[in-house]
Amino acid sequence: MIIDSHCHIPLISDDKSDQARIVQNATDAGVSHMLCVSVDLQTFEDVLFCAKNYPQVSASVGVHPTYVAGNLASVDDIATLAEDPNVIAVGETGLDFYQPNFDAERQEQQFRNHVRCARSINKPLIVHCRNSAGCLLKVLKEEGASKVGGVMHCFVEDWDTAKAAMDLGFYISFSGILTFKNAMDLQEVSKKIPLDRILVETDSPWLSPVPLRGKTNQPANVIHTLKFLADLREEDERFVADQTTENFNNLFGL
Ligand SMILES: [Zn+2]
Repeated sequence: MIIDSHCHIPLISDDKSDQARIVQNATDAGVSHMLCVSVDLQTFEDVLFCAKNYPQVSASVGVHPTYVAGNLASVDDIATLAEDPNVIAVGETGLDFYQPNFDAERQEQQFRNHVRCARSINKPLIVHCRNSAGCLLKVLKEEGASKVGGVMHCFVEDWDTAKAAMDLGFYISFSGILTFKNAMDLQEVSKKIPLDRILVETDSPWLSPVPLRGKTNQPANVIHTLKFLADLREEDERFVADQTTENFNNLFGL
């Protein structure tokens, strides 16, 4: 059994019969569960629809860090939507200082709201970190994120950042980026992380792993990232699948 810890099914397709096929593809590939991640509050209903319709799909609620136009999501906005029993996490949230003209101040404010919400409803965080590790770790520390923990999703940072996040009780999740030829540094980092702190994900529809690069990604493809990770670490694939599944269940209380 393998779990895709981070996907965006409504962004792969908004067609309901396509979505059914996507979930079935995953099941056929041995992917037993998927966490469908929210990117803003307006489209949260689409995420919730998937979780309500398929027992193997769970939902999160949150606003992606690059979405800071208009009103910022408040602690209450997020907490109200998180009351649905299908919601197991808060996010994705975090800081993204990669895009030009990013608004660091507004991103940080909205990120703090997510951490406060996660603490108030006692659910783990899904954290997106791009070109922002120093500031992001500072916010997690200041807001007491270690009380709920979470996952550093689509991890591409260095060992020091991984270590600091793990010290705060966070798990490290690897996407298809791990399989890319130019990801040697990341591959080295992934070898050093204790297996009981690792998750795998697709971040579909983006970041298809080798050998599917360039195609639209889907949860079934997480098996390629998992196999690559197991080979890299010289560990048994089944063992890595079982352990990452157990890690997911431990973190999200399933
Ligand atoms: Zn994502």
